Amino acid sequence: MKIAIAGSGAMGCRFGALLKEAGHDVILVDEWAIHIEAINQRGLEIRNETGSRFLPIKACLPPEVTEIMDLVIVFTKAMLTDALMQKCQHFINDRTLVLTLQNGLGNIEILEKSIPRDNLIVGVTTYGTELLGPGIIQAFGSGHNQIMQVDGKVTDDIKKLAEILIFAGMDTKVSENAFSEIWNKVAFNSVLNTLCTLMENTVGAVGHYSRFHEVIDHIVEEIIEVGYAEGVSLNKDDIFKMIINVIPPDMAGNHLPSMYQDMENNRQTEIDFLNGAIVNLAKKHNIAVPMNLLITHLIKMKEEIRFYQSQQEVKK
Ligand code: NAD
Repeated sequence: MKIAIAGSGAMGCRFGALLKEAGHDVILVDEWAIHIEAINQRGLEIRNETGSRFLPIKACLPPEVTEIMDLVIVFTKAMLTDALMQKCQHFINDRTLVLTLQNGLGNIEILEKSIPRDNLIVGVTTYGTELLGPGIIQAFGSGHNQIMQVDGKVTDDIKKLAEILIFAGMDTKVSENAFSEIWNKVAFNSVLNTLCTLMENTVGAVGHYSRFHEVIDHIVEEIIEVGYAEGVSLNKDDIFKMIINVIPPDMAGNHLPSMYQDMENNRQTEIDFLNGAIVNLAKKHNIAVPMNLLITHLIKMKEEIRFYQSQQEVKK
C-alpha cells in the first residue's frame, strides 16, 4: 500500500516507521526541511526503552510527492491541519483513504472540506512519542488506536485499515463511537496538557495538588455540558479515571505533555483545539464555561509572553 504521513513529527514518524517495517511503501511528508534532510541522510532514528534503531525511509516536502496515495495519515499539530492539507491535495484522489488520529476538536471539520466523507476515517490513539530532534524520535511504551469511518459505517475499507495497523504491531479497534473517545481525550488533554504547561511541571507533580479533584471537576463538567449540547454523551467518572490513572510515576507521572514542549520551544500550542474549542462551542449553545475560558486565556497569555520575551532577546 502507498502511504503518506502528512505531518511527520513524533507520531507521524512512529506510525510511518511501523507501517514501513510491515512492508508498505511509506513516505514521511513534512515541512521541516532539516528534519527531512536528516531522515534521508541517516535514516529515522527510533529510540525506545530497549535501545535505538535506524530505519531507512523516504521523507520529503509536500510538493515533492509525485504519486497518488492509497492512504494518507494526518499527524500534523491541529493548528496546521488546514494549511498542510492544502499542500497535499495533489497526492490525494477520490479513492485515497484519509485517517486522522490527531488530538483536539475541529480537525474533522477541516478535513471534510476536501475529503469525501466515505474516505474519511477518524479516531484516537494513546501511543506516546516525542520528537527529540531532526530525524530522531523517542517511542514510549505501548498504546492503542480506535478508528471509525466518519459516519460510523463499518466498511471493508475500515476493516482493512484496522488489519493493516494491527499487522504493523498496533493494537487497533474499529470503534462504534469514536466521537466520544475524541471528546474524552479532549477532556483529558484540556486538563493535563494545560495544567502541566501552566505549572511547568510533570503530570505526577500537578496530580499531587491536594485540591486537584476540585480543579478538574469544574473543567470536566463544563466540557461534558458542551459535549451534551453537541450530541456527544460523556461520562465524568470515565474521564476522571483516565486522568487519575496516569498520575503514578510508572504511568505518565514523570511525563511533560507535548503542549509543555511546544511552549518551551516557543511554538504555538493546540489550545484553540482543546479548551479554546470548548469555549467556542459553548458560545454557540449559550453555555458558560468560565474555567475553560480562563485556561484558554492563561495558555495564550503565556504563549504571547514567551514570544514577546524572545523578541526582546533578539533585540539585545
Ligand atoms: P510534533 O510536535 O512532534 O510535530 C508536529 C509538527 O511540528 C511536525 O510537522 C514537525 O516537523 C514540526 N516540528 C516539530 N519540532 C519542530 C522544530 N523544532 N522546528 C520546526 N518544526 C518542528 O507533533 P506530534 O506530537 O507528533 O503530534 C501530532 C498530532 O498527534 C497532534 O494533534 C498531537 O496532539 C497528537 N498526538 C500526539 C501524541 C504524542 O505522544 N506526541 C499522542 C497522541 C496524539
